[in-house]
This record gives sequence, C-alpha cells and structure tokens, in this order.
Amino acid sequence: MAEVTVALRRSRQRCPRSLVDMTDTAHRPSGPAGKQVLVAKPRGYCAGVDRAVITVEKALELYGAPVYVRKQIVHNAHVVRTLEGKGAVFVDETEQVPEGATVVFSAHGVAPTVHAEARERGLKTIDATCPLVTKVHVEAKRFAAEELDIVLIGHEGHEEVVGTTGQAPERIHLVDGVEEAAQVQVRDPSRVAYLSQTTLSVDETSVTVEALRERFPLLQGPPSADICYATQNRQVAVKAIATGADLVLVVGSRNSSNSVRLVEVALDAGAGAAHLIDDVSEIDEAWFEGVRTVGLTSGASVPEELVEQTMHWLAERGFGDVHEVESAQEHLLFALPPELRRDMRAAGMKG
Ligand code: SF4
Repeated sequence: MAEVTVALRRSRQRCPRSLVDMTDTAHRPSGPAGKQVLVAKPRGYCAGVDRAVITVEKALELYGAPVYVRKQIVHNAHVVRTLEGKGAVFVDETEQVPEGATVVFSAHGVAPTVHAEARERGLKTIDATCPLVTKVHVEAKRFAAEELDIVLIGHEGHEEVVGTTGQAPERIHLVDGVEEAAQVQVRDPSRVAYLSQTTLSVDETSVTVEALRERFPLLQGPPSADICYATQNRQVAVKAIATGADLVLVVGSRNSSNSVRLVEVALDAGAGAAHLIDDVSEIDEAWFEGVRTVGLTSGASVPEELVEQTMHWLAERGFGDVHEVESAQEHLLFALPPELRRDMRAAGMKG
C-alpha cells in the first residue's frame, strides 16, 4: 500500500480524561453504583474517512466555496452538515455540478462512467475514493481481464457496490448472503472469483464465501481480504465489549454499512440489546431499565466528539465509571489524493 503515511491526522481516539479511568483488555468490576460503560477501541474514524473529510476541507481552503461533492463524502449526517456549513455542496450526480466547477468523489468510490461524465462536463475532479476501495476496483478489473465471472458479495444499491460493479459490469454478479450465493448463475463454474464490499460482517461474509466454494470448488478470491482493516477491527472491538454488556450503543448513521454491522455483531456476540444512534438526541431513556453495563462504540465515519457527547450523557445518568477496552491499535494513514496535493504544492499550501 504505497500511499500510507502522509500528512493526515485529526481524529485519533481519545476519551475525556475526566471520564476514563483506565484502558484495559479485561473488564474490571463496575463502580460503586454498579453502573459502568465499556468503550470499544478502535472505534470511529478510519484512515479512508479521515482522508476524505480532509480532502473536502483542503479543497474548500484551496479553491474556495462552493466545492461540489458527489454523494455524501462519508456516510455520516454530522460530517455532511459540518462540511455544508463550510461551503461544500452535496449533489447526487455530476450533471448537477455546474460546468467547469470542482467536484470531489466520495470515499465509497465511483464507476469509470462517472469519471467520463465529469470529463464531458469539463469538471475538475478530486477523487477521494478510499485506497482500500480502489484495491477492490483493481481486483475486479484484473479478474475481468482474465475473463472470470466475479461474484461480488455486498448490499444492492450501496454506493461502494455500485462503483465496484461499474468496474466490470458485464462480469459482476451481486449476491447478498448465502441464499443468493446458492442461486447465482455463472458462465463457467470452474472460472469464478469473488470479491466483497469493504464494510460487511466478517463472520457472515465467510459463511457466504464457503457457500460459494461448495458450488464452485475452484473459486478464486482476492489476495487479501476485501473487508477492510477498520471494519474488521471495529467488529472485533465491539465483540469484546458486547459479551458483558446489557446494552450496546453504536454511534453512526443509518446509511453507514459498517455502523449497522456493528449493531448486528454486538447482538450476535451476546449484548442484551443494541441500538444505532446518530447522536444523543436519539437515545431513549427506556432502554436503560435494569441496565448496569453499557457498551459504547462508533462506526468508521463518526467523529469522536459524538462519542464524547454520549459519554457525558451517560455520566449524567450515573454511568460515569468508564473503561476503554482496547483490542487493536491502528496507525494507518493515507495520503491526500495526488491531484489535490499537486495543486496544494503549487499554491504553497501545506498538506
Ligand atoms: Fe476505507 Fe475501510 Fe474506511 Fe471504508 S471503512 S473508508 S474501506 S478504511
């Protein structure tokens, strides 16, 4: 991964010092009131989201408002609102962008046809596709060049799936789970490969891959897992807190695939209940009846301040005994898109 290590930093995880009394890998007993919060680590921003958000901010600084962004830059309502406040204009399609204007493509990636449309309209494009999504695009093009049928495991309509399918539309068959894996039709069962969306459940996807392998014993796969490091780490982390939690709160938006998966993984891991919340305004006090241990985490597109607000909300209700449970450390950073870095250099701006 050539692009690792440049210039991005913003959302390193930190709990408010006043609330967190330790970081541990084994839960300690709860506080005097018997109420505690287990906070998963890693949580929140991944390297791809960090890069995409900073890309829009830097583009605004460099070119001035408005900067157009095709689709939500990342799937989080707060991030989108904040960027709108700074002058970003979110559109659904490139045809909504005035000719000659600047448009940023989101972290979820786009099909080659979208690049072509932008070129036709004379748009200046900045591609904030996460490098780990680009990796899947490259795999799709390679398998297609080898004339394999490609089974893409993912959710229909998700922007990442639309973008990946667009890399080789004549070769890709979308399946969502084992039932569809049992039905998918290919040209030659001995020449099939699979790929997956980056934000799926690791456990569910491995079941789907096994179902495909039973049908297609020569099934080929990507050289390394398509489900990205951030999705995997957040699922491992939520499992670590969910086992002992009466209630798990996952901060994230409903259109955030990885956030929705965290709720499912928490329930599978034994949480008494699990809810997805965009922010504290969506918490229902009734969820807390009889609850002593709350698990707390956030999706890969969620700013840490929303987790901090949730911790304060919980502390005000007696859940001030907070333990961060760390299951992995993350140090990955991605460089900003090269076309943006080039313009920043030319303008004498620091990255
Ligand atoms: Fe990239 Fe994974 Fe983050 Fe998606 S969740 S932006 S694939 S690092």
